[in-house]
Amino acid sequence: MAGTDKRKLNPLDLYDVRAELTEEESMVQDSVARLVDEKVLPIIQDAFETHTFPKELVPEVAALGLLGSSLDGYDCAGLNAICYGLICQELERGDSGIRSFVSVQSSLVMFPIHAYGSEEQKRRWLPAMACGEAIGCFGLTEPQGGSDPSNMKTYAKRDGDDWVINGSKMWITNGNIADAAVVWAMTEEGVRGFIVKTDSPGFTAQKIENKFSLRASNTSALFFDNVRVPDANVLPGVVGLKGPLSCLTQARYGITWGVIGAAQACLNEALNYAHERIIFNNPLTHTQSIQQRLADMSRRITTAQLLSLQLGRLKDQGRMTPTHVSVAKWNNCRAAIDIARDARDILGGYGISAEYVPIRHMLNLESVITYEGTETVHQLIVGKELTGVNAF
Ligand SMILES: Cc1cc2nc3c(=O)[nH]c(=O)nc-3n(C[C@H](O)[C@H](O)[C@H](O)COP(=O)(O)OP(=O)(O)OC[C@H]3O[C@@H](n4cnc5c(N)ncnc54)[C@H](O)[C@@H]3O)c2cc1C
Repeated sequence: MAGTDKRKLNPLDLYDVRAELTEEESMVQDSVARLVDEKVLPIIQDAFETHTFPKELVPEVAALGLLGSSLDGYDCAGLNAICYGLICQELERGDSGIRSFVSVQSSLVMFPIHAYGSEEQKRRWLPAMACGEAIGCFGLTEPQGGSDPSNMKTYAKRDGDDWVINGSKMWITNGNIADAAVVWAMTEEGVRGFIVKTDSPGFTAQKIENKFSLRASNTSALFFDNVRVPDANVLPGVVGLKGPLSCLTQARYGITWGVIGAAQACLNEALNYAHERIIFNNPLTHTQSIQQRLADMSRRITTAQLLSLQLGRLKDQGRMTPTHVSVAKWNNCRAAIDIARDARDILGGYGISAEYVPIRHMLNLESVITYEGTETVHQLIVGKELTGVNAF
């Protein structure tokens, strides 16, 4: 590649964040990077084009201990928050859909069972989910609006020793491939979490077919028609919206790291292309405006990396708040989507081809900037912290 011999810094890690990592953290990053290079990148374009979640990756991901990686016990790896972040970053360098699978399984399904489940529920589900034998999904969003979960219509009514659930959930990752759904439903006592087996009578998952984003991920609508769930499947440890919101905080944390990987993949592609593309008798890299654009991508990736690194340290010290997470989810998703769009443009017409990574990441990031709280929702969370006023 022309010009690379003069580079002293890693363009994808200008501030050498890698040097800040412990040996264990570096090892985790390297092993996930290998998995992505060897197993994800060769198949991901096809999975995206055919709108299929590559389920064959689940045992590979599980074998590295990436499912429920930050939980202790129950066959989980008990890694720190930085490791979880690096796992997300490397997976999303491959594809946001693969990272979404791991985020949902780890942060939205295994985390609430670990944090709020009974001992029996933990033993039943966590080891099976850690080894990828059982897959979970998380049902919070409903068709009438995800940003305001307090407007929940799905209702669970007590009936003897059982509960009977009616309602529907929308945009549910892993919905069609899940063995169990952690479903949040309104009850007389407030919002409760239920572990619903997906073979329960009255439960239906319908794949959402016409997505232009996260096509390598399964997304479904869930329907509950008098679904009977035993009392033993209610998460006993939490009542109210703080249950699902605490799960979202975990998953959003991982997303702040994940999108850095997508942005790095796009910058890398744009750099390679700009070196080789000769226009007006010169490589694109020799023009000032292309250099400014590449520099801007690098600046934004560096900022995102430092935010997530500090966020991870706060998390490991038990000092991370939802507002901290909102700043980073907002900043890093915005940076990544802008970088992906700009990288797509630098590739000209080739930029719209799935042969190159930017368009796939760009389309994926449209979901990532929307789910787990839209950009506006995160701005309002930060605004509330600054002013003390709830403007939702
Ligand atoms: C691919 C994909 C996978 C998903 N996976 C899951 C999953 O596994 N589980 C799950 O439960 N959910 C999941 N979601 C749902 C996701 O979390 C919601 O889409 C998201 O929370 C937004 O909700 P909504 O789509 O209903 O949009 P709405 O809440 O209807 O928002 C519409 C618009 O209004 C804006 N808005 C909202 N409130 C305000 C306000 N007060 N002031 C100004 N503007 C406002 C929003 O920012 C947005 O631009 C997924 C979504 C996608 C796209």
